[in-house]
Amino acid sequence: MLSNLHKIRKMCEVNVSLKELSSLKVGGICDVLFCPEDEESLIYFLKNRPNDMKVTILGNMSNVIISDEGVQGCVIRLGKMRNDIEFHDDYIKVNAGFQLSTLIGQCVRRGISCCEKLSCIPGTIGGAVFMNAGTSEFEIKDVLISVDVVDFEGNKWTISNKKLKMSYRNGNIPKDVIIISVNLKISHKDAEKIISSIREIRKRRLNSQPIGGATCGSTFKNPDKMKAWQLIKEAGCAQFSVGDAVISDLHCNFLINSGKAKASDFIELITLIRIKVFERTGIMLEEEIIKIGRWL
Ligand SMILES: Cc1cc2nc3c(=O)[nH]c(=O)nc-3n(C[C@H](O)[C@H](O)[C@H](O)COP(=O)(O)OP(=O)(O)OC[C@H]3O[C@@H](n4cnc5c(N)ncnc54)[C@H](O)[C@@H]3O)c2cc1C
Repeated sequence: MLSNLHKIRKMCEVNVSLKELSSLKVGGICDVLFCPEDEESLIYFLKNRPNDMKVTILGNMSNVIISDEGVQGCVIRLGKMRNDIEFHDDYIKVNAGFQLSTLIGQCVRRGISCCEKLSCIPGTIGGAVFMNAGTSEFEIKDVLISVDVVDFEGNKWTISNKKLKMSYRNGNIPKDVIIISVNLKISHKDAEKIISSIREIRKRRLNSQPIGGATCGSTFKNPDKMKAWQLIKEAGCAQFSVGDAVISDLHCNFLINSGKAKASDFIELITLIRIKVFERTGIMLEEEIIKIGRWL
């Protein structure tokens, strides 16, 4: 018991600023940041935490706006978990904290096709499944077999892809569970062919998106048969900004922190865009990015 506590304590930090860890470079402090090194520590922590300690699970923070007021309770991130990836004949099992880009790299090296169509999408495998990350051609649900999850009380179980009923940018993961590992279908393919398709995707993205900027990618979901960027442009919002929160010149649906923007600036800009688009088209854009933390 004492040795477990000692081990867990080394994986926790208190009063951690999330701003620099997040893609958008905004946000306040979380009370506790817990980065378990193995599943046993995660489950021990969940079973023994104070009952009133709120839990928030985060991946790479590529799709979240963290509140300026910070996050109450404990933020859990799985990036330091061991036993990252298991290769089997027709599937792989991968830790949810694993970076999508690293997974794609490891697969390519072995001539394995899995989720290379998600190249250039930042984030962890857990985040990708939660969001059902994808493009117009491919979503992670296309290769997902099942997810292993643990609830906030430390109970573990597996959910099949079929049960999840994932949809556009929605993994439909039950509330208050943490995805700990993911089973994905694979096939064997010529590595050179996979590499050349990745190069093509990268070229397309570099020309059309502000890759490398302080952004969360698409801010709004595309309404049925429409493009959010087009609606934003046609509503005359392309030059809108609030403080240092600006709209990308390359892609109207990408917001960028061009300096010292706060989360509140992004919220104001998002509200402004939604109102303008609604006034022009009658469509209320739905946010793809997720708000995390204490909101006033
Ligand atoms: C430049 C850029 C381009 C992008 N392009 C695309 C794109 O083309 N397509 C696309 O779909 N997305 C895109 N995104 C958005 C983002 O990369 C994806 O949504 C990504 O899957 C988020 O993963 P993450 O680990 O960063 O999750 P986070 O942003 O940390 O979290 C997102 C959500 O997932 C939940 N979550 C994270 N990990 C877990 C877990 N282990 N268990 C349970 N819940 C969890 C969090 O609670 C949160 O609600 C882009 C982002 C950027 C910055």
